[in-house]
Amino acid sequence: MPLEKPFLSLEEVAEVLGVNYQLIYKLVRSGELPAVRVGRVFRVATPDLHAYLEQSKTNRNPPETRCASCGKRYYSRLSVQQKCKVCDEPICNDCWTRKKIRTCEEHTDKKSEKKK
Ligand SMILES: [Zn+2]
Ligand SMILES: [Zn+2]
Repeated sequence: MPLEKPFLSLEEVAEVLGVNYQLIYKLVRSGELPAVRVGRVFRVATPDLHAYLEQSKTNRNPPETRCASCGKRYYSRLSVQQKCKVCDEPICNDCWTRKKIRTCEEHTDKKSEKKK
């Protein structure tokens, strides 16, 4: 029973779930399924796989997360991984990396913004 091993290869994960390898690879690359990189291959920790399955089971309709800066709604938590430095409100990756925003709308210092 492969699930008793501490780590599974992506092939094994695919086999256990009865899906194809490409799908698992995509999940790992997108970060949805946590995996560790060993040299050139990925390994999925069995507890992570269980956690992923558990989460997919209970979260058929995951609650949407709203970026506290731009107000955009996201259904994947992975798109909103950052937080306002003041109040911990979620900030989307787009605001964080592209616009370099570190605080929610409320806590953004308007004076530091460029005037149009
Ligand atoms: Zn945003
Ligand atoms: Zn804030």
